[in-house]
Amino acid sequence: MTRPRVVVLGGGITGLSAALRLAESADVTLIEATDRLGGKIRTGADGIEDGAEQFLMRDPATGGPSGAARLATTLGLPIVHPAIGAAGLYTGGELRPMPGGTLMGIPSSTLDGFRVEAARDLDLGTPVLPPGADVAVGRLVRERLGDDVVDRLVDPLLGGVYAGRADLLSLATTMPALHGLLTTEHTLGAAVAQAQQRSRAHSAGAGPVFGAVAGGLSGLVDAAEAAAVRAGVQIRRGVRVTALRRTGEGMEILHGEEWLAAAGVLLAVPAIPAARMLTFLAPEASTAIAELEYASLGLVALVLPACELPEASGFLVPATEGLSIKAATFLSAKWPSLGADGEVVIRASLGRHGDSTVLQRADDDLVDIVRSEVSVVIDRPLPQPLRTRVTRWGGALPQYAPGHLDRVAAARAALAGLPITLAGAAYDGIGIPACVASGEAAADLLTESMI
Ligand SMILES: Cc1cc2nc3c(=O)[nH]c(=O)nc-3n(C[C@H](O)[C@H](O)[C@H](O)COP(=O)(O)OP(=O)(O)OC[C@H]3O[C@@H](n4cnc5c(N)ncnc54)[C@H](O)[C@@H]3O)c2cc1C
Repeated sequence: MTRPRVVVLGGGITGLSAALRLAESADVTLIEATDRLGGKIRTGADGIEDGAEQFLMRDPATGGPSGAARLATTLGLPIVHPAIGAAGLYTGGELRPMPGGTLMGIPSSTLDGFRVEAARDLDLGTPVLPPGADVAVGRLVRERLGDDVVDRLVDPLLGGVYAGRADLLSLATTMPALHGLLTTEHTLGAAVAQAQQRSRAHSAGAGPVFGAVAGGLSGLVDAAEAAAVRAGVQIRRGVRVTALRRTGEGMEILHGEEWLAAAGVLLAVPAIPAARMLTFLAPEASTAIAELEYASLGLVALVLPACELPEASGFLVPATEGLSIKAATFLSAKWPSLGADGEVVIRASLGRHGDSTVLQRADDDLVDIVRSEVSVVIDRPLPQPLRTRVTRWGGALPQYAPGHLDRVAAARAALAGLPITLAGAAYDGIGIPACVASGEAAADLLTESMI
C-alpha cells in the first residue's frame, strides 16, 4: 500500500511530536520557518534555558506519565528533577514561603496571611457553574473569596505560567479539573477541596512533580529530531510557509517559491500564522483562531559570583507590588549542574499580557532592573554579574480567554472535510506535555481523515 505524503508546519515540540506519530503511517515533510527546531524550547550553550525550563511529569487528568515524560522516556533520555521545589511569594514588601494547600492559589478555606472572604462563597442549592459555562478565573475567585487572594496569590501564580492576568484567563482551559467540579459542587471551596483530594490520590507515591532533560530541554528537541529523521521524516528549515490551497487530490503548500503537494497538512504553528493560512480556505476557522491574543515577555539571566540566596527555587511577585519583574528562578539552586563551578544563576521574567512597556527598554536597562529588583526582594545586594543574557519572546504565550475551548471546537468543526488539523500551544494547553499530546492527537485525526 502506498503511504500518503503529509506536511507538518512548525518545528516546535508540537510539530516534532506530530511528525513522529505521522511517520508510522505516512511520508512526512516537516517545514520550519527558522533555521532551528524547538520553537519556545531553546537551551543556551551554557546550559541556561532561554525558554521553557521544565515539564510536568504527570498528566493531571489521568495521573499517568505526561506527554513530555513519555516522549523523553521513549527517546531514551535521562530525566532530571529540580533539587529544590518550594518557591517564595513577595507580598507586602516581604519574601515569604508560598502558602501551601491551594489550587493555583485558590484556597478551600481560610489561609494565613490572606483575607479570604469565605462568607461570600454561598451554597445556593445549585452548582456554581451551569454545564458548558466558562468564566475568567479571577472573576469567579473575586466573587466568591474576595480580591486579596486573587491579587496576591492567584494572579501571580497564573501570571507565572501564562504571563497573563487571572481576570482574563479562562477557568475551563487553565484549570479544567476545577472547572468540571464546579458544575456539580455548590461552592468554590468544596470544589477546590475535591480537586485537591483527587490530585493527592493521583500523586501519592508518584515521584517528583517536575522534570527536565539532563543537559537542557533542547536535548528533547534534538533527540526527537534524530528519531524523526530515522523514521524517514524530511526536515526543511529556514523556509516560511505562506499559503495553503486545496487541490482535487489533497493540498498544496507554498513554502518559499515552491508549491508542495500533500494528502494532508498538520498546522503546528502559532495562531497568527495559522489563521492567515486559513483565511480563504476555511474563513470560519481562521476567524475563530485569530481571536487568540498572545503575551510577550523578556527573560534576563544573571550569572553571578558565589553569593547567598534564600532557601527557595525562586519567587513570584504580584503585580500589586509595583515591581517590573514578575518572577525569578534561582536556577543554580534548582538545577545544581548549572552552579557546578560555584557560580549563581538567577533568571527573572518581565512583561505581562497588556503591560509590556518595560520590554521597550534596552537590554542593559533590563539587566539593571532585574539586578536591583531581585536585590530588593531578597533584601541583600546582588554582586556585579559575571555574564548576563536577555532573551525576548514576542508573542510568547497564548492567552486563553473565557470561551477558548468553544472557539477551538468551532475552528476544528469548520475544518472537518478538509485534510487539515490544528495542534499546539494555541489550542490545547501551553505546557510542553499538552503540546506533545496535542501534536499526537492531531496526527491521529489527520491519519483518520485521509483513510
Ligand atoms: C519563556 C517561556 C518559558 C516557558 N516555560 C515553560 C516551562 O517551563 N514548562 C512548560 O511546560 N512550558 C513552558 N513554556 C511553554 C512551552 O514552551 C510552549 O507552549 C511550547 O514549547 C510551544 O510549542 P509549540 O510547538 O506548540 O509552538 P512553538 O514552540 O511556538 O513552535 C512553533 C514553530 O512554528 C514555526 N513557524 C511559525 N510560523 C511558521 C510558518 N509560517 N511556516 C513554518 N514554520 C512556522 C516557528 O518558527 C516555531 O518554531 C514556556 C514558554 C516560554 C515562551
